Amino acid sequence: MTETDAIVLHGFDYRETSRIVRLATRDAGVVSAIAKGAKRPKSRYGQGLDLFTSGVAHLLLHPSRDLHTLTGFDATRARPELAGSLARFAAAAALSELCIRFGSEAVQGEIHDVLARGLDALGAADDEAVAAVTLATAWQLVAELGFAPTLESCAACHRPIGPGEVVRFGHRAGGALCRHCAPQAPGARSLPADARAALVTWIAGGTVLGPGEAAARAHQRLLREFLEEHLADGRALRAWGAWEGSAR
Ligand SMILES: [Zn+2]
Repeated sequence: MTETDAIVLHGFDYRETSRIVRLATRDAGVVSAIAKGAKRPKSRYGQGLDLFTSGVAHLLLHPSRDLHTLTGFDATRARPELAGSLARFAAAAALSELCIRFGSEAVQGEIHDVLARGLDALGAADDEAVAAVTLATAWQLVAELGFAPTLESCAACHRPIGPGEVVRFGHRAGGALCRHCAPQAPGARSLPADARAALVTWIAGGTVLGPGEAAARAHQRLLREFLEEHLADGRALRAWGAWEGSAR
């Protein structure tokens, strides 16, 4: 039996009385688990398996299977405020999708902690602040998952990039490309100095105050394209698409 802090990322009903949930855990990575009897009126999970709820998960981990057993969940923090606005809900769903699609049981980074802080910040954010909080959390998750882009030197020739230098962002190259290397990467996005500085700050866990609406949209697109480049299965990031749509 493993007891670990966890956040409910996703859940769906299974047969008459059970639910299958995806959890971001502190000690066991991102796992799928079945909560038997969770739909019964007096289930031992209570309301704890609502989306984005934090709690202590009691897990029976099955070494040879992908689906584990959740024997209990003691909720410590529900986050009903995330359902209070479409902007917050769409953003929280996008962050969950990032954890689900890229996380695994083997993930070593502090996915759980970064997500918990991000969801709390989202819950306290007014609609105008949602984009910046979501982008910051997403880039930190990317860093914890181990595929942060190269931003302070050229991803192709490794030459250091000066603070004011205008570069491009190559999704396949994995980061900033200097003006000598960018022409060899068709489709690379322009990356103004302030946008690059924002990415560096977000990845380091810092805050960037209010990128304007147009800049936020460019950041959303850059992030989604970067994530899609790193997904091998070619399936679209539906929650990210919905989040971009909701911000318009
Ligand atoms: Zn270069």
